[in-house]
Amino acid sequence: MRRPLDKLPKAHLHLHFTGSMRHSTLIELALEQGVHLPDALVQDWPPQLHATDERGWFRFQRLYDIARSVLRRPFDVYRLVREAAEDEAREGSRWLEIQVDPSGYASRFGGLTETLELALDAARLASESTGVGVAVIVAANRTRHPLDARTLARLAAQYSDRGVVGFGLSNDERRGRARDFDAAFRIAKRAGLLAVPHGGELLGAPSVAECVDDLAADRVGHGVRAAESPRLMERLADRQVTCEVCPLSNVGLGVARGPEDVPLRRLFDAGVPIALGADDPLLFGARLLAQYELARDVYGFSDAELAELARQSIRSSAAPEPVRKEILADIDAWLATPVAN
Ligand SMILES: [Zn+2]
Repeated sequence: MRRPLDKLPKAHLHLHFTGSMRHSTLIELALEQGVHLPDALVQDWPPQLHATDERGWFRFQRLYDIARSVLRRPFDVYRLVREAAEDEAREGSRWLEIQVDPSGYASRFGGLTETLELALDAARLASESTGVGVAVIVAANRTRHPLDARTLARLAAQYSDRGVVGFGLSNDERRGRARDFDAAFRIAKRAGLLAVPHGGELLGAPSVAECVDDLAADRVGHGVRAAESPRLMERLADRQVTCEVCPLSNVGLGVARGPEDVPLRRLFDAGVPIALGADDPLLFGARLLAQYELARDVYGFSDAELAELARQSIRSSAAPEPVRKEILADIDAWLATPVAN
């Protein structure tokens, strides 16, 4: 007998806005709004993707765009975030940092500021109704111009005391170098936001190093390919830079051939802090709990190690001190529960 993982308190630090949508909600909203969904999002869901080549990544982005197109009314946004928080609560997650690129929705909701305010209001209400702390990360798109990222960083900075806790950089690593976005990240860091760019997903260890050296990353989205360099892992461990590892996303996108190829164990044993994440459950068919189950079943994590993973997710989060303290105490309590034989 092992301790139930849905009762292990944890934080979820890598979840994208549209990608957090329940599959059933996508189907329902598409039907309601007359949006035609491709088979990959209906009977063949979750889709088989091979994003390691450009065409595969393009297909992933296209599915993502179709899914985003069903979010048309403020009501849909409130529903999306509330359901995401409900799912977090069910899986024992107590703190969620949801990542949004407001430019993807700005034309629908009246501009960048209005979109961000809508997301923040939805986060606040979801938090109140579920008890899960919900904070927002503003993410820029690395396939767009660095000046766009600066605009977003300034916007994020303005809301640093109203629910925005971090600044990210997403999309295809091969199409935009981290260092081109250093000015945006400087603005974000000056405002006290966490720097949480994606890196080391589609490209190797140097891409992770660039996030750390040029963007002063506090956490790296994915970062799994840091495992290719023992020296880099040592630096991440020394500087306590967290990798937001999303194993089932790596498998879903073909970044890893199978779950056993995701180097979670190697990173953990090297002392690199880890926050497990789901990335886009809507496209990969798995939420946060499934990643912890994988850590137990495939990577052989003991309950003590799983508790340590959960602690690392809390310590790497932007949760306020009293919240962290409470959750960390509850993790200890989980581990102290005797296991029935
Ligand atoms: Zn991501």
